[in-house]
Amino acid sequence: MPKYTSLSEIQTALKTGEADIADIVSHYLTRVETTKDLNAYVEVFAEEALQKAQALDAKFRANPASVGRLFGMVLSIKDVLCYKDHQVTAGSKILEGFTSLFSATAVERLLTEDCIIIGRTNCDEFAMGSTNENSHYGPAKNAADTSKVPGGSSGGAAVSVQADTCLAALGTDTGGSVRQPAAFCGVIGMKPTYGRISRYGLLAYGSSFDQIGVFAHSIEDTALLLEIMAGADEFDSTASAKPVPAYFQELNCNKKTRIAYLKTAMDSEGLDVGIKNAAFHLIEKLKKDGHTVEAVDFDLLDYIIPAYYVLTTAEASSNLSRYDGIRYGYRSANASNLTETYKKSRTEGFGNEVKRRIMLGTFVLSTGYYDAYYSKAQKVRRLIFDKTKEILQDFDFILMPVAPTTAWNLGEKMDDPVAMYLADIFTVQANMVGMPAISLPVGKHANGLPIGLQLMADQFEESDLLAFSKYVLDSVL
Ligand code: GLN
Repeated sequence: MPKYTSLSEIQTALKTGEADIADIVSHYLTRVETTKDLNAYVEVFAEEALQKAQALDAKFRANPASVGRLFGMVLSIKDVLCYKDHQVTAGSKILEGFTSLFSATAVERLLTEDCIIIGRTNCDEFAMGSTNENSHYGPAKNAADTSKVPGGSSGGAAVSVQADTCLAALGTDTGGSVRQPAAFCGVIGMKPTYGRISRYGLLAYGSSFDQIGVFAHSIEDTALLLEIMAGADEFDSTASAKPVPAYFQELNCNKKTRIAYLKTAMDSEGLDVGIKNAAFHLIEKLKKDGHTVEAVDFDLLDYIIPAYYVLTTAEASSNLSRYDGIRYGYRSANASNLTETYKKSRTEGFGNEVKRRIMLGTFVLSTGYYDAYYSKAQKVRRLIFDKTKEILQDFDFILMPVAPTTAWNLGEKMDDPVAMYLADIFTVQANMVGMPAISLPVGKHANGLPIGLQLMADQFEESDLLAFSKYVLDSVL
């Protein structure tokens, strides 16, 4: 059990004088040390976090009203988010030694509210993966069972919260990278609507999919962090100008809801029985509580993964062309001219999975294949969007598993990239359609590992999604 499971607990401890922030940061730093073998962190900002804690303690003592809304929040950030004057490498050798010149907008907004960043967390290289095994720093391990993967790509982020080394974490979710590791590690993981949080300062993988997301133990913390990070940003034209609701204040759910589940998803062959049972158990409870839960048809499930991997690799091949050995990080010492510098730096700097995706993405964008693959996948994306929207016109939420199985063994799928891709089948839909989705820890499987279930809502319906999630966690389960 983590020592603190919400910011409000920490703030109570701070206000009653039971602890100061320096104590809280020390607690987390001790946890970081004792759980080092989990490999959750790429770098810990120990010294700096402690100094910041002392400064905040002094600020609070001088005037308790002067501290920000995140006073007491100790957060880890995934190694794809820029934090000024700190290194960021996207889990890749190619960014070795690169230091951010500015902070991501999301990070900046959290810092303004007096959040303390304790370190940057391990992840799959450029967020490409489902297990954290594609990291230049080696895999992170699941704290529930260290022979299992923590999920990915934000594996270190999930473990950092699971193992009580910080209160909450920022990850990114392009195809499930917040929700799936959250499910594997038994914590909450939320991906907001595409455009709800600025992507400025997030190292891009698939720009039309990427969103920053939150790992936490409580819905309140998830809501508060989202509320502070969300909103328009002059540095990201895809960040929505829609007003940001007071998510944190709007967590009451007192209406009867309509929930759909996808027949094709629940009947899919690869879905583990224990997870399926957990989903139906929740469905029965919701029905008993007066909610409407209905099965709906969704014939497009089998097209989601192929379309996603065509589109994201296409975007990745373009996004990653900037890593050329000249502008950032790693440069091969074995090159004697410009072309060789490009080639050797990229060959030596990128790992296998990233190379595979750059090649696939370049292929689907190339003359002669563009229409057959890229354009076609765009059309499929549109169909999936239209169908999902249609369902969400009749229903408030779509309930789904997060992953077909619980966390698998380290190494188990490393030789079979297609099997790894297929395991993303339930998370990718939300990214394809840009809708918010959350992974809720609903209990343990008979095998002892955590199970997560997922709720998806229509675009910008985060308030309802969070309120309903809180109700499910507090009152239904
Ligand atoms: N597992 C998916 C992929 O490899 C999702 C990754 C992510 O969301 N960043 O693309």
